[in-house]
Amino acid sequence: MSSLYINGSWKPAASGNTRDITCPATGETVITVSEAGKDDALAAISAARTAFDSGPWPTTPTPERAALLRRIADRLDAERDEVARLESLDTGKRHVESLIDMDDIASVFRHFADLAQSEAGRVIDTGMPTISSRVVTEPVGVCVLITPWNFPLLQTAWKVAPALAAGNTFILKPSELTPQTAMWLMKALEEEGLPAGVANLVTGSGAEVGPTLTESADVDMVSFTGGLVTGRSIMASAAGTVKRVALELGGKNPNVIFADANMEAAIDNALTAIFLDSGQVCSAGARLIVEESIHDEVVDEIVRRAKLIRLGGPFDEKANTGPLISEEHLAKVEKYVAEALEDGAKLRCGGERPGGELAAGSYYPPTVLDECDGSMRCVHDESFGPVLTVETFSGSTDDEKEDAAARIANDTYYGLAGAVWTENAGRAERMAKRMRHGTIWINDYHPYVPQAEWGGMKQSGIGRELGEAGLHEYQETKHIWHNTAPAEADWFPKN
Ligand code: NAD
Repeated sequence: MSSLYINGSWKPAASGNTRDITCPATGETVITVSEAGKDDALAAISAARTAFDSGPWPTTPTPERAALLRRIADRLDAERDEVARLESLDTGKRHVESLIDMDDIASVFRHFADLAQSEAGRVIDTGMPTISSRVVTEPVGVCVLITPWNFPLLQTAWKVAPALAAGNTFILKPSELTPQTAMWLMKALEEEGLPAGVANLVTGSGAEVGPTLTESADVDMVSFTGGLVTGRSIMASAAGTVKRVALELGGKNPNVIFADANMEAAIDNALTAIFLDSGQVCSAGARLIVEESIHDEVVDEIVRRAKLIRLGGPFDEKANTGPLISEEHLAKVEKYVAEALEDGAKLRCGGERPGGELAAGSYYPPTVLDECDGSMRCVHDESFGPVLTVETFSGSTDDEKEDAAARIANDTYYGLAGAVWTENAGRAERMAKRMRHGTIWINDYHPYVPQAEWGGMKQSGIGRELGEAGLHEYQETKHIWHNTAPAEADWFPKN
């Protein structure tokens, strides 16, 4: 199938290469797509460059750009079930979860449509009547948008919607494992009248086309969501041309429970925090940090309930969660657990891939590793699987407890998200301030709204998506000084 969309046309790869996309729940091929190479990447860059430099999109009035985004949202509402099915076939995630993603994606398109229309620029009062000084925003230019496999269309929407709202052109490189919903989006943009060359799609391996896209002098910005190691290499390859870089990387997110928390809610949400989507969520609450006095009560109950979680394919209505994305990723999670046990962690449940009818898919059970501490690698590295590590804190005063909890919660080179559970509002606010993570939930886990910024501190990334900052990532700021009564500067001697 011709899955490359370049300059308004669907094309096969110049090499003729293809890739089979398999459903992780069954291992069966769901579609065969074109595998882009360097020549295809260069063609996509050229199309996006021309569309930016001489096409109509960058100067299309904002209300028209916003209207197109709204039509995409409406279309997604209408085709919700089918697009969610494509997403579930590629990722293996439950269809009901993909349906929720579709609603989030439509909200993201509407958010950026509204935001772009409300942007006004700024007028500076210089105090000089003949001078007009104003600050305006303009599109950055040609953007390369690189996305991961865990929320394929959602992560794409966080980039495509603001990029288009601001008037940029782009090349989208989705994960090679999950291209189908990116293809749906390109078709939708084409049918809704986006000019040729504004949106381009290259499906295929990041190692193959990535450096061509990120090094090019014709590309003005790279926005990447994915793993830390890939993010570092993208930042290095973008450095040669000093292009703008936005990075949304991994996380190793602390979920802190104090003894004064609402225990039922804290335990229930601790399960969702880590086991939702089998832990393949960048903000997963993978580190449970629990006050020592309630350790047994909390961990015993989490273990009991983790054992009840039923694994199954996207359309198995009895399943609570699905497979990991691939055999390769499953092997990585197994290795991570084996190393944790070697380092002294205690396995409380899970830890072994299931057999029977699940053996054809890449399933891994909810796993709890108890008695962990900051000296162990499993506490610091991202497993990106359904693996919860447990650490404890204690103190003889309230201050000591908070100091200990904050120190452990911040003992990570990541800084994406975290949560604190306590019924003491003052403690909740103090902890939220001390925890160095881009999102802090108090007595909750996972919810987000497109109006609020999302992104990481430390090595979880650079920049923010969503909110207002998520649009500004895709805009240049320009100061225009207009002297309406030109006069000589009279600085240098005339004779
Ligand atoms: P990954 O880094 O392996 O791949 C991400 C994308 O980068 C893919 O499209 C891949 O093809 C491409 N890529 C690979 N090598 C490249 C290169 N050299 N140059 C350019 N592109 C290249 O990540 P993944 O396994 O797809 O996704 C999982 C990771 O994503 C996890 O670490 C997770 O935490 C992170 N993530 C972060 C967020 C966030 O908001 N911070 C959201 C979702 C996922």
